[in-house]
Amino acid sequence: MTSNQKPRVRFAPSPTGFLHVGGARTALFNWLFAKHEGGTLLLRIEDTDVERNKPELVDGILVALRWLGIQWDEGPFFQSQRIEMYRAATEHILASGAGYACYCKAAAYTGGDSADENEGEGDDEGKAAKAVACSCRDLTPERRAAKEKEGIRPAIRFRTPRTGTTHFEDAVFGPRDVQNAEIEDFVLLRSSGLPTYQLSVVVDDIDMRITHIIRGADHLSNTPKQVLIYKALGAEPPIFAHVPLILGPDRTRLSKRHGATSVGSYAEEGFLPEAFRNFLALLGWSPGDDSEYLRTNELIERFSLSGVSRTNAIFDRAKLEWYNTQYLQKPPVEEILPYVEAELKRSGLWQEAWASSEREWFAHTVDLIRPRTRLLGDFSGWARAFFTDDFDYEPEARAKFWKDEKLPLLMPKLIKALEAVTDWNHDACDASLRGMATSEGVKAGLLINATRVAIVGRAVAPPLFETMVALGKDRVISRLRRALPAIPSR
Ligand code: GLU
Repeated sequence: MTSNQKPRVRFAPSPTGFLHVGGARTALFNWLFAKHEGGTLLLRIEDTDVERNKPELVDGILVALRWLGIQWDEGPFFQSQRIEMYRAATEHILASGAGYACYCKAAAYTGGDSADENEGEGDDEGKAAKAVACSCRDLTPERRAAKEKEGIRPAIRFRTPRTGTTHFEDAVFGPRDVQNAEIEDFVLLRSSGLPTYQLSVVVDDIDMRITHIIRGADHLSNTPKQVLIYKALGAEPPIFAHVPLILGPDRTRLSKRHGATSVGSYAEEGFLPEAFRNFLALLGWSPGDDSEYLRTNELIERFSLSGVSRTNAIFDRAKLEWYNTQYLQKPPVEEILPYVEAELKRSGLWQEAWASSEREWFAHTVDLIRPRTRLLGDFSGWARAFFTDDFDYEPEARAKFWKDEKLPLLMPKLIKALEAVTDWNHDACDASLRGMATSEGVKAGLLINATRVAIVGRAVAPPLFETMVALGKDRVISRLRRALPAIPSR
């Protein structure tokens, strides 16, 4: 890459599952890097593995990326539509002598790495130990012709040099040198005519002029093979940046055992995309100080590959919830209104007036509720009484705050006092309730708690008098009346 060339990076998911936390973090790092550098992000769907791919998952991956707010500049490209290019590259490698046709059957290739085997995707760790070169490597032209005559369709293997080392630079893990003797003669093109991951990824990264490959550290062990392919194709390898793995709290690789791993399930659970971005960004990257709450523009501003750590990151659900709380509470309320609107629509509570004539009420009410929220679902959950008359009294709240035997007498009086309030505002409600408590010789808290349960159904909710203003006089009075028969008298 020349110094005035803008970086080109790619996110290259295989549609073998949903977009999971690790993939989303890789996508995010690529996006942050591209944004920071003014570069370009490509999206490439690696769908050549017909046995493992599920084409119907592609849409879900795009939806999850869009939810995360990750926009790609080019693509999506589909490897399944580029097979001819991989075959042409294989021809080139064969012609140069850097590859050979292998006619072995699965069992015949003692390396356990046969022409027919489904090889390539993900971690190749461990195969190095059994690396052998296939006997087809040195077939005489006559023997090859004989095999061809038998009608065996060969796989094409890379002729890995037996000596020397393969070197590459990794922006995170530093310089790496791998003994070629440890690298097997890996397959480039399967006997089915479909490419392996190793081949297609390199052909595409060259063709798409990728300058930086930012991906999970599980691909570190694939990199020497890919570097060999670059060389064989006469191309300079790009800069690699392998990002550390994400582990569960027990330090094993993050999996379903640790809870939800798909991005979609976090969207459904009521996490905000920006909170999720902030959380993901700090899994394996650090801004260099101890800042944690970093809005997306700050992440873009501060992101650099030098801040990516080699140490595996731990997925901490409590931390994710902390971020969500921050993003529900800290940004200007206008920013979260669309999310609350979507949540209320989802739960059938939304009223169009809140988007128009009652926008101000809506914003104010969300602002009142949000200091006590953790997930978007809280707006239609514990706070639903702000948006509908259809709510229940929490049993523990009833048991605790409606048990005083004076309440059946006090509450009707409170209703009367509140009915007399003409200017329905915080201070007037406050004065009316406290005045009554004083004249009845009871603590204001008794009436405050009982009223809160009556009008929002919960023991823990926003401050009472503000709640009363948000709900309005008519609603408060009618809810207090509705509660009367439910307050036990002795
Ligand atoms: N399709 C590969 C994966 O999902 C991408 C690997 C790469 O980025 O080179 O792991």
